[in-house]
Amino acid sequence: QNPFSRQERVVVIGAGLSGSLAAVYLARHGYLVDVYERRPDPRTAPAGLGGRSINLGLSARGMRALDEVGLLADVLKRSVPMRGRVVHSPDGAVRFQPYGVREHEILHSVLRDELIALLVDAAETSAGVRFHFGWRLNRLDRDTATVEVLSEAGGDPVEVGADLVVGADGIHSVVRQHLQRGLRADYSQEFLEWGYKELTIPVGDDGEPRVRLEALHVWPGESAMMVAHPNVDGSLTCSLFMPHEGPVSFATLDTPEAVLGFFRANFADAEELMPNLVEEIAGHPVGHLVTVRTAPWRHGDRVVLIGDAAHAVVPFYGQGMNSAFEDCLVLSDCLARHTDRAAALAAFEAARKPHTDVLADLSIANFVDLRDRVHKPGYTAHAVADRLLSRLMPDRWTPLYTMVAHTTTPYADALARAKRQDRILRGATAAAGALAALGAVTTIGAALRRRSRGR
Ligand code: FAD
Repeated sequence: QNPFSRQERVVVIGAGLSGSLAAVYLARHGYLVDVYERRPDPRTAPAGLGGRSINLGLSARGMRALDEVGLLADVLKRSVPMRGRVVHSPDGAVRFQPYGVREHEILHSVLRDELIALLVDAAETSAGVRFHFGWRLNRLDRDTATVEVLSEAGGDPVEVGADLVVGADGIHSVVRQHLQRGLRADYSQEFLEWGYKELTIPVGDDGEPRVRLEALHVWPGESAMMVAHPNVDGSLTCSLFMPHEGPVSFATLDTPEAVLGFFRANFADAEELMPNLVEEIAGHPVGHLVTVRTAPWRHGDRVVLIGDAAHAVVPFYGQGMNSAFEDCLVLSDCLARHTDRAAALAAFEAARKPHTDVLADLSIANFVDLRDRVHKPGYTAHAVADRLLSRLMPDRWTPLYTMVAHTTTPYADALARAKRQDRILRGATAAAGALAALGAVTTIGAALRRRSRGR
């Protein structure tokens, strides 16, 4: 704990995933923490109000950050373990691919609203954090850490002074806008041409799950793909990803016939799993998929950004929440190591940004893999070789996916190591190919010699 930070006041904007967990960490540092969130209290509001994905895959980084503040066991009690991917091919064939080679290398599917409610509860009851739901940030004075908040119920704006403001207000962060206004700030926002829609695989009429529950289900495809996370009640929540516009796109799913025709052609076994398909396609909104890269993330000792506000990624590596949770842990470490808070915030940005930038690239690359390669023989062979080597040499070989999802190796370090491994694997494949070719040439040569002797 940093003794100089005691009794100082922090205002966190946003009680989403990163804001609620950051509040727990900051309260443990001795700060007086107030959190302002524009939405209603997730513990009393109807589920799914957020409109973002309903459930999420929790992996090693997120688990470590939750564990550090004693919340992991409670979260895992409310989650479904996912031991691998079940890949559904367009022809209806189904194949299971384990996530890792070790017993603990699994993901956990958690409901977003339930997770946030648990974090808010923990922050309020055991860490003394005060939450103000239904209040949104209107303005921020970055030099004095003074915020102006507005009640969603109406009324005059209220000014609140703090020592530090944490911007955990997500991809369209208002804190970020005020932090960077008029400065030499970098900001890029890259929309994927694909969007997503939430659909459901409800429990079967017999009360049992319709598919193997303890797995992430993936329907890969070049023109559309779908993933489904399991829920504790035996249902699964699917995200259908496809282009917003074009010949095969959300825009063309405009009649029941078009919807059914599309599903039959692309996801052969999905129709019978999804009895409410047509109604859900018509009724559910299409979400955008955006990558945000930006800098700076901080202003002196007064303001800092975390989570999607600092680095939003597309969801194809399942790391947005996990990296946001990791931010909370790293920020806490930096505050503990530096008595000067400006230095702590600078150290935080320096420690995180190179890695979250790499995560942004990896997430887009995984989108391309899932779309184009995961169901092709070459990809499977590479993945099998990668896993085999990891099993044979567990201390020396770790697949990239394993490093990202099942370890806390910083993202850029994981990528650098994976590139080294890939070079070795490609070299070995080429050598094996050359040996095989040599063998084939020898065999063919011997056969030709036998034939000419026989003539
Ligand atoms: P948010 O969750 O967006 O929270 C921001 C909060 O700030 C919100 O509650 C919002 O209401 C509030 N707010 C905004 N503006 C204001 C304001 N002006 N005043 C007050 N409050 C404000 N990540 C994973 O790790 N695993 C997954 O499997 C995964 N799957 C995903 C699937 C999809 C389809 C999508 C879209 C994302 C997925 N993610 C996943 C990413 C994950 O959802 C985000 O990275 C995560 O929500 C970021 O948390 P956050 O707290 O930074 O931002």
